[in-house]
Amino acid sequence: MPSLSFAVFRSAGFRFGSPLLISILMILALEGLTAVLASYQDLLLTLPYILFSLVVLLSQPFNQGRTGLVALLMMVAYYIIQTYLQEPLSNDSTKLIYTLLASLLPLNLLQIHIMPDKRLWSRFGIYFMLFIALQIAWSALVVDHFSQTTLSWLWDTYLYTIPTLSPLPIILILLAFALTCSSAATILKRNFGSDQTVYISLLFSSLAFVLFQYAFISSTAFSLAATLLLLNIITCSHELAFVDQLTNIPGRRALETELKNLGRTYTLAMLDIDHFKQFNDNHGHKVGDNVLKLVAKIMQQTKGGAQIFRYGGEEFTILFKGKEASQCQDYLEQLRIAIAKYDLIIRGQDDRPQSDEKGTELRQEDKKSQSVHVTVSIGLADSFPDHNPQNVLKAADEALYKAKKSGRNRVAR
Ligand code: GH3
Ligand code: MG
Ligand code: MG
Repeated sequence: MPSLSFAVFRSAGFRFGSPLLISILMILALEGLTAVLASYQDLLLTLPYILFSLVVLLSQPFNQGRTGLVALLMMVAYYIIQTYLQEPLSNDSTKLIYTLLASLLPLNLLQIHIMPDKRLWSRFGIYFMLFIALQIAWSALVVDHFSQTTLSWLWDTYLYTIPTLSPLPIILILLAFALTCSSAATILKRNFGSDQTVYISLLFSSLAFVLFQYAFISSTAFSLAATLLLLNIITCSHELAFVDQLTNIPGRRALETELKNLGRTYTLAMLDIDHFKQFNDNHGHKVGDNVLKLVAKIMQQTKGGAQIFRYGGEEFTILFKGKEASQCQDYLEQLRIAIAKYDLIIRGQDDRPQSDEKGTELRQEDKKSQSVHVTVSIGLADSFPDHNPQNVLKAADEALYKAKKSGRNRVAR
C-alpha cells in the first residue's frame, strides 16, 4: 500500500527520529571508520560541497526556499571549517573562529523556522545572504581585532571547556543542545516538512562541533546532513503532489495512481457530505473547512483496511482492496453513524456565519460555542463484473446519487 507507507515518511515521529538514529549510528561508526574514510579523503572533503550545491539548486524548482537557505548556511559553515579550522585549536585565532562559528551557525539555522518560505533567488533571499555576509564580515573584524591579544582570560572566564569531553566550551554545548531540542519540538508540534531541514542541520553541525577532535567529523556529518536534506526535498515534493493540504490525507492524484495498481477484487465507495452548501452558508466557510478536516479524521478510523482519499470539494473516496462490496457495507455503515453522531463544537468570533439570520437562529442562547452535526451519504460498488476502476468509480457515484435521492444519511449500492 504505497500511500500508507508514505504516510510514515511524513509523520512527525519519523521526521524527528530518523536523523537522530542516523546521527547515533554515525557516532558509533566514527572510531572504526577513520581508516576507511582516510582512503577516500579527497572525495569525502568535497562531498559536502557537491551535495549542498545540489540541495541549493533543487530548492528553487522544488519551491523549498527554506531548505535552500539551510543548505547555503551549511555550505558556508563547511567552507569556513575547511579553510580556517584545520589548525590545532590551541591557536587563539583558530579557537576564536571555532567558537564564533559554533555560536552563529545554530542561531542562524534556528531562525529559519520562522522565516517565510521564499525562494533563495528573490529579494528576500538576497537580504538573507547580505545578512550572512554581514555576520561574516563582523566575525572577521573580531578575529582580526583579537589576533595580537592573548585570549586565555576569555576561555578561562566565560568559555570553560572539559577537554576530555569536547573542545567546545560547555556553554556552547548547552546552547547547541537547547537549540536542537527546540527545533525538534517545532517538528513534533506542527510537522512541516521544511522544519526537518533545520533540525537535521542543527543536529549534525552541533555534533560536528562537539566531536571536533575526531578526524573527518565535519565532512562526514555535513555529508550526511546534505543527503538527508536531499531526501527531505523528495518527500516534501511528493507530499505537495499527493497529499491534500487541507485535510492532510491523500488527494485525487494519489487516488488516480492507486487506481492504476489494483488487483481483481476491490471495492470503491464515494462519500459526500449532505447539504454542505447550506452548512457553509449557515456557519461560514472556515467552519466548513474544519468540518472537512474532522470528517477526514473520522474516516481514517474506518475499519476493514480502508484507504481514504479526498476526491475534491466535500467528496471523499474509500478504497477497500481485496474486498467485495458486501464485505464493506458494515464498515461504511459504522463510518456513516460515527460521523452523524459526532458533536461538532463551533466556537469563537472567527467562525461567524455568512448569513446573520440563520446564524442567530442556530446559535440559540449560547453565543460562545454550540454543537452541530453533519451527515454523509455513501455509494459503493465493487469490481464485479466490470474490472475497470473508472467504471467502478462511476458505479459508486451512481450509488451515491441513489443514496441522496432516497433521503441522504445512508449507504447505498
Ligand atoms: P448534497 O446533500 O446534495 O450533497 O448537497 P450539497 O450542498 O452538499 O451539494 P453541492 O455539491 O451542491 O455543494 C457542495 C458544497 O461544498 C459547495 C461548497 O460550498 C462546499 N465545498 C466544497 N469544497 C469545499 C471546501 O474546501 N471548503 C468548504 N468550506 N466548503 C466546500
Ligand atoms: Mg458534492
Ligand atoms: Mg454534498
